[in-house]
Amino acid sequence: MSQETPPRAPLRVAVVGAGAAGTLVALNLVRRTGEAAEATGLAITFVDPAERLVSGAAFSTTDPAHLLNVPAAGMSWDPEDRFDFATWCADEGLVGPEDASYWFAPRREWARYLRTRWQEALAAAGDRVVVEHVRRRAVAVVPGAARGAVVTTEDGVRLEVDRVVLATGLPTVGDAWAPRDLSGEPRYVADPWWPGALDALRSDGGDVLVVGTGLTMVDVALTALAADPDRRVVALSRHGRLPHPHAPSYLGEVVPDVRAWGSTLPEVRAAAHAHVGAVAQLNGDWRPAIDGIRYRVAELWSRFGVEDRRAFLAGAAGEWGVRRHRVPPTSDALLAEHRAAGRLEVRAGTVTAVEPCSSTGASGEGLEVTTADGDRLRVACVVNCTGPRHDVRTLGNPVLDQLLGLDGGQPVARTDELGLGLETRDGRLLAADGEGELPVWTLGALRRGELWESTAVPEIRAQAVAVGDALLGD
Ligand SMILES: Cc1cc2nc3c(=O)[nH]c(=O)nc-3n(C[C@H](O)[C@H](O)[C@H](O)COP(=O)(O)OP(=O)(O)OC[C@H]3O[C@@H](n4cnc5c(N)ncnc54)[C@H](O)[C@@H]3O)c2cc1C
Repeated sequence: MSQETPPRAPLRVAVVGAGAAGTLVALNLVRRTGEAAEATGLAITFVDPAERLVSGAAFSTTDPAHLLNVPAAGMSWDPEDRFDFATWCADEGLVGPEDASYWFAPRREWARYLRTRWQEALAAAGDRVVVEHVRRRAVAVVPGAARGAVVTTEDGVRLEVDRVVLATGLPTVGDAWAPRDLSGEPRYVADPWWPGALDALRSDGGDVLVVGTGLTMVDVALTALAADPDRRVVALSRHGRLPHPHAPSYLGEVVPDVRAWGSTLPEVRAAAHAHVGAVAQLNGDWRPAIDGIRYRVAELWSRFGVEDRRAFLAGAAGEWGVRRHRVPPTSDALLAEHRAAGRLEVRAGTVTAVEPCSSTGASGEGLEVTTADGDRLRVACVVNCTGPRHDVRTLGNPVLDQLLGLDGGQPVARTDELGLGLETRDGRLLAADGEGELPVWTLGALRRGELWESTAVPEIRAQAVAVGDALLGD
C-alpha cells in the first residue's frame, strides 16, 4: 500500500494595502506558487477598503491626461522582463510597437495592466491559490507568541495568518503651508489623490490656485485647464520650481562608481555635481547622470548620519526631486502652451491667509488667498499639491499607530530617527527592541528611512520580488 504524503497546510498571507506594492508582492507569490513542482497552497487575504486592487494614490485616477512619470520600459511588473509593459501597451493598440518602450502611458492603463497580469497568474496557479479581499481598514497587526500574526480590521474581524505584508503606501498628504485649518472649507481640496477629489474642478468653473509645483500640480493643472476653457490656474510654491521634463527620446543611464564619494552630505553633493557636469559635457545632457545616480541612492543614503539626512530633507531633496521626478514630454509641452497662452502662471511665494469670498466660479463661492508679498488672489478653488508628509508617526494611519505604540499600547515595531519609515532587516520589520524580527514584511514608502528612493515602481517591483522570496523561503 503506497503511503500518501498529507497535504501541507496552505501558507496564509495577509496583504495589508492592495495598491501597486501589495499587488506586486501577491503577484510574485502567486507566480512562484503556480510554478512550484510541489503543490504547497497559498491563501492570500488582501485587507484594504479600496473597491479593487491597484487603486491607491497614483493609480486610482481615471483621467487619461494623468500620465506615468516613468517610461513604459521601467514599468514592467517583473524586473527581469523589462519590456513586458511596453509590449502589453503595443498589443492593446495603445501605442505603436516602435514607440512603446519610451512611451509615458496614462496611469489608469498601468493599473489595468497589473490587474490583467494578476488575473493571468491566478488562473495559471489554479486551486493552489485562494484569494480573499476584505474591504476594511486594518487597525492592528499583532505578532503571535510563537509564530504568525493576527490582523484586526476596523470592524473587529480577526485574521490569523502566518505572514503579513504591510503595503500601506505613500503617507497622507501634508498641508503645513496652510495658515490655518482649512479642512472645513468646501472650496479647498486637501487631498487631490483621493478618488473623486477633482470632480469639482470638472463640474464647476472658475480660477484655481494650486499650492505646490511638482508632478501632482501637473496632473491637477491639466485636469482643471481641460475642464474649463476660460479658467486660469496659478501654481504657487516656495521656489516656483517646476519638475524638469524627460528627454524626447531614451538617453540611457550613466551609473557612477560611488566608492570615493565620501559619506557626508557636502561630500556626496559635490561628487554628484561633478558626475552630472561630466556626463552633461560628454553626452550633451544631464539626465543620464541623474538616472544613473538613482541606482546608487540607497547606498549613499545609508552612509549619511541623521543630521545629514535632516539637512538633505530641508534642502537638497527639492533640488534632487525636480530632476529625478520628471514630467513626460507631452505633458511638459501642454504646460508650456498653457503658460504661453497666459492660462497657467507659476509663481514663487508663500500663502499667509485664506478666507472665503465670492468668486467668478459657477457656484459664486470661492476663496481669497493672500501671499507673503501682499498679493490677493480670488479663486473658485484651492488644491493642495504639496505632497506627502515625511514623518510616518504623524499620519494617523491606525495600523501604523498601533505598531508604533502611538495609540497608547505597547510598541511592536519602530521607525528610524526621523520617522521616515519603519526599521527593517531587508524589508522584514524589526521588533520594537531593534533586535527581534516580526513575521511582517514591508516595502515601498515605508522603507524610505532606509533607502530614500523607495516610492516608485522601478524600486518597488524589485522589493516585491525579494519580499515574495522571503515569504516563501522563510
Ligand atoms: C500622483 C502620483 C503619481 C505617481 N506616478 C508614478 C509613476 O508614474 N510611476 C511610478 O513608478 N510611481 C509613481 N508614483 C509613486 C507611487 O506612489 C507608487 O508607484 C505606487 O503607487 C506605490 O504603491 P503602494 O502600493 O505603495 O501605495 P498605494 O498605491 O498608495 O496603495 C496603498 C494602499 O494601502 C491602503 N491602505 C492604507 N492604509 C491602510 C490600512 N490601515 N488598512 C488597509 N489598507 C490600507 C490604501 O487604501 C491603498 O489602496 C506616483 C505617486 C503619486 C502620488
